[in-house]
Amino acid sequence: MPQEHLLQVSPEIAANEMLLKEHLGKLLKISPKEIQHVSILKRSIDARQKAIKINLKVVVYLKGEPFEENKIQLPDYGNVANAQEVIVVGAGPAGLFAALQLIELGLKPIVLERGKDVRGRRRDLKAINVDHLVNEDSNYCFGEGGAGTYSDGKLYTRSKKRGDVTRILELLVAYGATPDILVEAHPHIGTNKLPQIIQDIREKIIECGGEVLFETRVTDILVKNNEVQGIVTQKGDTILANKMILATGHSARDIFELLDRKKIFIEAKAFALGVRAEHPQSLIDSIQYSCDYRGELLPPAPYSIVKQVGGRGMYSFCMCPGGVIAPCATSPGEVVTNGWSPSKRDQATANSGIVVELKLEDFKPFAKFGALAGMEFQKSIEQRAWHLAGETQKVPAQRMIDFTQSKVSSDIPKTSYVPGTTSVEMGQVFPGFLTQILREGFSEFGKSMRGYLTNDAILHAPESRTSSPVRIPRDPITYEHLQIKGLYPCGEGAGYAGGIISAAIDGEKCALMIGESLHKKTSI
Ligand code: FAD
Repeated sequence: MPQEHLLQVSPEIAANEMLLKEHLGKLLKISPKEIQHVSILKRSIDARQKAIKINLKVVVYLKGEPFEENKIQLPDYGNVANAQEVIVVGAGPAGLFAALQLIELGLKPIVLERGKDVRGRRRDLKAINVDHLVNEDSNYCFGEGGAGTYSDGKLYTRSKKRGDVTRILELLVAYGATPDILVEAHPHIGTNKLPQIIQDIREKIIECGGEVLFETRVTDILVKNNEVQGIVTQKGDTILANKMILATGHSARDIFELLDRKKIFIEAKAFALGVRAEHPQSLIDSIQYSCDYRGELLPPAPYSIVKQVGGRGMYSFCMCPGGVIAPCATSPGEVVTNGWSPSKRDQATANSGIVVELKLEDFKPFAKFGALAGMEFQKSIEQRAWHLAGETQKVPAQRMIDFTQSKVSSDIPKTSYVPGTTSVEMGQVFPGFLTQILREGFSEFGKSMRGYLTNDAILHAPESRTSSPVRIPRDPITYEHLQIKGLYPCGEGAGYAGGIISAAIDGEKCALMIGESLHKKTSI
């Protein structure tokens, strides 16, 4: 029988099949020629020692043992063109994976997306980067594939349910992602590869009889006797259905306002906010790998750091090795940062959100906005940053040590943030308590990651769309909204996911819950 082995090998051995077979041959006291195939099940980097090691979990197939390449297939989707319709609002990971799951269940998804398809979206990304023009329906957060399309495509999650995670990863592979994502401890896809995968998912939904409508913004949700009846679009069209998955993401402020206005129960939710720090990638490599040059065999190094400062967590968020800082505003009159990387992560700089946990009490100055207090707090910082940096898509920026010393930087070098930067004392962007924590926190980070606290690092502000500032509460068993029957709040915008994988998992769960409720109805 083929045997599983846990190994720790040098990067050279891990990268070369012949060397790996030789290594295994010695370990198993056999000739490498007796080894037919080595399947790698898991791969991670152990950079704790000066001599970096690669941890591998492998299955060794000896000559004569049965071996078959594990081909990942798409599920058997039927045609749902004439099946019961379910409205899915939002074509982010939550909405798209909900739609696929609905098809598996024999239901017809009608996906409504305010933004454009992945190709059309590119023009609007250029407009925000080059002309400082923000299209409120098509930007880094809105459009086909949602906020994750033009991202680093990191695919890790804190979800404890490995089965759910593996299913989503396998689906992504079936739609064209590299099978390496099933093996890597910290898989990612990259901005250059994600759009094609998203497009293939959409084409499959349509091929199976589902509908995907772009440039279709939902402006009203029709409710009668506390039950969903359908939606109205910005074009004035009405689409009727009594099951609806609401997966509009954390930036759909108009949806939160709509729900608030219609007295559909929502609540303020704490989130995290801070800056996006950019370092030379070579500096992060030298800190993480304890070397001057990382060489060809190691990937650009990521980092993850967390400290308790002033009773709150301050931590790295959505770190992009070899990446670019992106302008992620969704309305004119605000600036927002986030980051992306190409699949090779081969850009010269590393960027990461560095954010501080907020508490509901921080939103007190905005209490008159009720459940929208956190959203208004978030908006006020994004608008202040826009104003301070010159009322374009330029962002406030400061060198890291200058920030810790409350000193305006005399110059800001060109960074990866294409619209440009304006030298600003960051203390002006944030409320005092937040500035204080960030200042102390960076000094603490410098103690545990030697070299991290440097004036070669440039801070950009704000990093404010880390998770939703609002929760749309749902029943923990049925996933239905607590008050409105047939409404399934879903994904990051509803407060039930944080990241591509967890949003996709939540999308599938909501679809399964709809399937279950319909099954119960028909079997009564
Ligand atoms: P979203 O992806 O936000 O999708 C919601 C969709 O709803 C959008 O397409 C929007 O246009 C649409 N919508 C909103 N309002 C309406 C309306 N009224 N009518 C119709 N449609 C509407 N996560 C990771 O795990 N790894 C990463 O590497 C990563 N990098 C990121 C980089 C960037 C630049 C950004 C912005 C985010 C990144 N994220 C990353 C976060 C990740 O993208 C989100 O967590 C994830 O996309 C949430 O999925 P979702 O489906 O819940 O919502």
